[in-house]
This record gives sequence, C-alpha cells and structure tokens, in this order.
Amino acid sequence: MLEVDAARALILKGLQRNPTEAVTADDALGRVLAVDVICDEDLPPFDNTAMDGYALAVGARTAQPGEVFAVQGEQAAGDAARAAAAACEIMTGARIPDGLDAVVPVEQIRVLDQDAAGRALRIEITSEVPPGQHIRRAGEDIRRGERALPAGARIGAEQRLLLAGIGCGQVDTVRRPGLALFCTGRELVEAGAPLGSGEIRNSNGPYLSAAVAAAGAELLRYAVLPDEAAPLQRAIEDATAAGAQVILSTGAVSMGRYDFVPQVLRELGAEIVFHKLRMRPGKPLLFARLPGGQLYFGLPGNPASSAVGFRFFVCAALRALLGLRPEQPWRLPLLADARKKPGFTLYQKARVRLGEDGRLCVELLRGQESFKVRPLAEANAWAALPAEVEQLSAGILIDVHGLEHWGLQLSTETLA
Ligand code: AMP
Ligand code: MG
Repeated sequence: MLEVDAARALILKGLQRNPTEAVTADDALGRVLAVDVICDEDLPPFDNTAMDGYALAVGARTAQPGEVFAVQGEQAAGDAARAAAAACEIMTGARIPDGLDAVVPVEQIRVLDQDAAGRALRIEITSEVPPGQHIRRAGEDIRRGERALPAGARIGAEQRLLLAGIGCGQVDTVRRPGLALFCTGRELVEAGAPLGSGEIRNSNGPYLSAAVAAAGAELLRYAVLPDEAAPLQRAIEDATAAGAQVILSTGAVSMGRYDFVPQVLRELGAEIVFHKLRMRPGKPLLFARLPGGQLYFGLPGNPASSAVGFRFFVCAALRALLGLRPEQPWRLPLLADARKKPGFTLYQKARVRLGEDGRLCVELLRGQESFKVRPLAEANAWAALPAEVEQLSAGILIDVHGLEHWGLQLSTETLA
C-alpha cells in the first residue's frame, strides 16, 4: 500500500498550471495571480500633507518655535498643483504647493493676524518644524515600476486595496480549476426533507461544495446520485464535457457490495493510479486519470475521510493547477502526550491554541472517528502524525496544516 507522500507525487506528476485569464480586479477576489502586478503609477501620486495645518517653506533648516510666517490662501484635498509665494493653510491629503517643504499641524501654531472671515494671515509656530515634516512623498508607499504583488498571490480584500490604490482595474489570474462533485448513496437526504428509516443527512455535499470554492476552484457540476453505476458514469461524461478538470465522488470506494466507483472508472477507460493509502482516516481513497487527462478522486463516504482526501490530496492537485508550490506545514509543539498505531499516517483534527506558557501549541481533538462531523467544526487545523511514529510526547514538534490549503487561520475565539 502506498505512503501518502508517494501518492501525492503520483497525483502531481505531469500537472501544469492552468492558463492565464484576465479578469477585473473585482472578479479577481479569491483568485491567484498568474503574473506579477507591476505598478504603473506612484502611490501616493504626489507629495501631500499627512496633517491639517499650514504648509511652510523652511528650506534645509529646522524652523524654531517663535518663528513667524505670512499665510496666503489654502490648499485642500483635490486642489491641483500651484506655486506658493507664502505659507498656506493645508488640509490632510492636499498636494504640497511648489516651493513649500514642511507642514506644521494646526495644534502647533498661534494665529497672530486674521482676516474678516477668520482666516489666518500670519502665524507663529510653537514647536520645531524640520524640513519635510508631515509630508507623505510621492511613491513612498509603492513606486511606479515596482512589483505591487507577486505571481502566486491570492487576491483578498487587502490585495484588492492595493490594486485599487494603484489604479489597477484588471489583472491576469490563473484560471480556476473546474471541478465536479458527485455524492453517492441512496441513504442521503437533504436538509428540509424528513429523514426516513435508515436515511442520513448528506453532509459531504454541502461541505465539499463550500471547501471547493474556498480552495480556489470552480464547482461546475454537483449531484447526489443513487448507488448505481450508470448514473455516475453519465455524470462523469457530462462533467468532462462541461470542462471539469477534476472530478470528485464521495462514497462507494470501499469493499462493500455497492462500492461501484472502480468499476465505473474501468468502464470509462480510466487508469486507476492508486486505491487505498497507508493513512487514516480515508484509507480507501482512490485516484484515477480519465482518458481525457481529467483527475478523478474517489473519496470515501465518511465525512472525516472525505475531508482528509480533499484537504491533503485534492488540494495538492488544485495547488499545482493554480501554479502554487506544494504546501509547507507549520511545526508546532504538541500540547499533550499521544499514542498512535504505527504503519499509517494519521491526520487528526486539531486546535492550534495558546498553551499555559502563552505560546502556540497544538491540541489533538477528541472524537477522531471518521463518521463524526462536530470535531471538524471545532478544529482550526489538521495535525499530520507520521506513519512510523507510535508514541508522541508533549512538546515535540509536529506538522500542522490549516483547514484550508492557504494556511492557518486562527480566530481569537478558537485560540483560548
Ligand atoms: P461508503 O463509502 O459509501 O460506504 O460510505 C461510508 C459511510 O459514509 C456510510 O456510513 C455512509 O452512510 C456515509 N456517507 C456516505 N456519503 C455521505 C454523505 N454525503 N454525507 C454523510 N455521510 C455519508
Ligand atoms: Mg455508499
């Protein structure tokens, strides 16, 4: 039986990054950049003031408290460039008039003379004003010609902010992998419908649909299918015709009478690359390549098993299609002693949290049985315990992965 790393290597063999797709910056949210974004304007675009106050000409020296400046006019945010003959009142974000070179905040001046409308005509500064004070320089955040974002970056709200800041309205992204998901099982019932005798809720379908989108792929087809070969075969043919690159099924890959997935794949002429791995949960995982090159993952039906198959094998393929390197785990100390049987990699629902010493550590959660759903909702990470290990002592470093392949996400609610 294959080890998990060897299995991942077989999945990644020959996989190439998807083609580039130009999309608007809004549509880029959640997608991965195919090429570097080069900034083609300075941010900020011009020298401007960080404070409300007065723009002064101090030259190369530091103006001293008690110095007096004549004031003429004002410069507000949005006012165009102009030359100044004297100091001027200035508002945050306004362009520094040509000839002025420092800003004194309004709190650090005294008005000596004012006009009928109450505008200052002469001011005295009450603190030192060094040259350049409170001026935000053109290009100080990011300069024209610089790389704003690297290829491989995922566009979230913060990256969207940067794109907006530099006026970038369109980006080249990696086309999202197209994916189809089929849940097999005549016992499956959706929310809202009553549970008949012997029936259970379909939890994998909604779970994996959400996980697929969160992983950066596009769900092209989704269906719940009975325990028969023909509907699955038709669904696979329809999915490949719709452009699916990756097809997932749940259930029907174990050793039961109704575990028909391998048979369907053989009938379609697929190459079954592996079936069963040295791991738990999710040992019956099946991986095949269809004649058209599409990747097929037969995930076991138990929710935690399908979660492991998706997270550690399907996501590896999705990353390659997105042009991302294989994941690197975090290494964190184990909270408490643990034991496992040797001979298989154990993927455990885990919580990265603060230990008594105030440092991050990882706790293996209770309820690791693969039919259990609740512990996954309480986890914020996966721990991967190596195949050969039997005894793990508190404090040793173990591999920890985020629930999503992008990395760990620690909300403060789950840290304590
Ligand atoms: P199977 O691999 O088809 O033998 O299914 C293994 C176990 O997972 C059985 O207890 C199934 O009832 C359960 N199961 C299969 N599919 C789902 C699903 N979509 N949601 C929740 N449980 C499922
Ligand atoms: Mg089944």
